Amino acid sequence: AEIPEDGPLAGLDPEQLAAVRAPRGPVCVLAGAGTGKTRTIVHRIAQLIHTGHVAAGQVLAVTFTARAAGEMRTRLRALGVHGAQARTFHAAALRQLRYFWPRVVGGPQWDLLDGKLRVVSQAAHRAGAGTEAEVLRDLATEIEWAKASLVTPDDYPAAAGRVGRQSPAPVELVASVYRWYEAFKAKANLLDFDDLLLHTAAALDEHPAVAEEFRDRYRCFVVDEYQDVTPLQQRVLDAWLGDRDDLTVVGDANQTIYSFAGASPRPLLNFTRRFPTATVVRLERDYRSTPQVVSLANRVMAAARERPAGSRLRLVGQRPEGPEPSFAEYEDEPTEAAAVARRISELIDTGTPASQIAVLYRVNAQSEAYEQALSELDIPYLIRGGERFFARVEVRQATAALRTAAASAPTGELPKIVRELLEPLGLSAEPPTGGAARERWESLLALVELAEELASHVEGADLAQYVAELDMRARAQHPPTVEGVTLASLHAAKGLEWDAVFLVGLVEGTMPIQHADGNDAAVEEERRLLYVGVTRAREHLALSWALARGEGGRRNRRRSRFLYGLIPEDHATARLTRARREAAPAAAALRCRVCGAALIDAVATKLGRCAGCPADLDEELLVRLKEWRARRARALKVPAYVVFTDATLV
Ligand code: ATP
Ligand code: MG
Repeated sequence: AEIPEDGPLAGLDPEQLAAVRAPRGPVCVLAGAGTGKTRTIVHRIAQLIHTGHVAAGQVLAVTFTARAAGEMRTRLRALGVHGAQARTFHAAALRQLRYFWPRVVGGPQWDLLDGKLRVVSQAAHRAGAGTEAEVLRDLATEIEWAKASLVTPDDYPAAAGRVGRQSPAPVELVASVYRWYEAFKAKANLLDFDDLLLHTAAALDEHPAVAEEFRDRYRCFVVDEYQDVTPLQQRVLDAWLGDRDDLTVVGDANQTIYSFAGASPRPLLNFTRRFPTATVVRLERDYRSTPQVVSLANRVMAAARERPAGSRLRLVGQRPEGPEPSFAEYEDEPTEAAAVARRISELIDTGTPASQIAVLYRVNAQSEAYEQALSELDIPYLIRGGERFFARVEVRQATAALRTAAASAPTGELPKIVRELLEPLGLSAEPPTGGAARERWESLLALVELAEELASHVEGADLAQYVAELDMRARAQHPPTVEGVTLASLHAAKGLEWDAVFLVGLVEGTMPIQHADGNDAAVEEERRLLYVGVTRAREHLALSWALARGEGGRRNRRRSRFLYGLIPEDHATARLTRARREAAPAAAALRCRVCGAALIDAVATKLGRCAGCPADLDEELLVRLKEWRARRARALKVPAYVVFTDATLV
């Protein structure tokens, strides 16, 4: 058949086409980063709708981060698909549960638990466990792992032992905290994110009428990033499917980065065992990144210790050549952040839009230095992760103002009304030039854009609907898009892409994260996280780290072990040779004044005398000797890349 120029079949390679055109039923795409997996499923949805095999409203596509779900929606819209759902597992469950709750449970509607650590803290107190912030975080992680793995409090001790969890407290104590946590929640009529999934699965499993209604409505299921499915999510997926098999999954086992939280690539790798008739497609052409970036990504994974069968995929770059990835070491974190901000500003000046640039880090606490450095240069940025957006003062003020106004539901165009209501809060017509005012403005503008989005989807949408949408998003932590440089954790960056990516803070203890040390499986997960980071870049990729934390602090950090073998060797050799050559003349001058023997050995410095004759060294010679040794040690440690200092930044 003719392939329409801009239809769902346009711009696909033969393997992608095979997946897109496969008849309804099980389909599995196993492929590396940037090979077009997401593109393939989006086109498949469009094609199934286009050819009348399924109605848009019958499609439910799920993924793992709010941002990735948003990306899917954007791509679907670009193909002219409206009304197909693309959500995170949690957001999908949240909607369904709100709808089914009165019938399956009855009684008052629940609320989503906000501030999980507070409840964990209460539970820990009650159970007699430690309540230090760090312990609480670890306890919360354990509870999340248990719930995602379908492990009850009673089962926890045995299950944790079986998989070798490093429990933050004795397993019986963790189980007890978990039990109290559940009890407190139930009493307050609160559900956490995992409860949404548990209740959704239970509603479908235990209420045939609900299941029938649901399965009549949704008939075509698609899962992106399937390598990170948890047993709990799989259970929901199974409940959705019933005995049907219209399921398309795509994933990359090398991008499994949530196994600490119970995720596993096994359902992906064993898909054909479960669905023997499945269409299986492998992709290896990488359309996202330059060959330079692809080659670095291949090298990151080549060093991996364990590579499950089916994950041994090599990427072959399709794009034109680009710049070499850069590696840079800085004296301390503020210097690193300032240098990164400066490079970002150069990229923006030379035409890269801010929205096409990302700074990715391992832990959210690392964002602060970058927020500051970017603000100083007046570069707009946004932080992925969500929490922060709805916690911002201006967003809370805006929500309150909109809610008050909605109570009187003013008529007129929704975006216009929202804009007028937000003007007094700092939404001037022109953006302020920088700092806090600018950030405030960006958030408020995002709220107006959200109103525009709503108005374009829902005809006659009014302020009350808009406020309801805001509430929903705040609960689901689904922030609207804000234009600017993206600051995100590596976990949150999955599935996304930018023209320029800065992977920062690549030091031991952060990457791999400290608690992974000594645990091979955990270190391997960290390596996959780096692979995810590297493969986000389309063109520019910069990797960096700093030897000290605070400005001028002690340089007691080491660059990440994952960098060994990635940095071009020839640079390293050249640098070492230069360091030796520069140190040589100084060494030649350091001779014993009595016998003329060279003094550059450890004995001389340690004992303060010449190793060749009994002469003691005079004070001046000793000082010079020490200086030389220190300088040489530094020179030899200088790695293969440019070392930026404050001076080079001016
Ligand atoms: P990840 O594993 O990171 O989620 P992915 O396999 O889902 O990656 P996509 O995001 O779908 O990859 O595609 C990567 C980029 O390559 C996108 O910009 C996409 O538009 C582009 N792309 C995919 N397939 C093709 C193609 N056949 N021709 C041109 N560009 C393509
Ligand atoms: Mg993808």
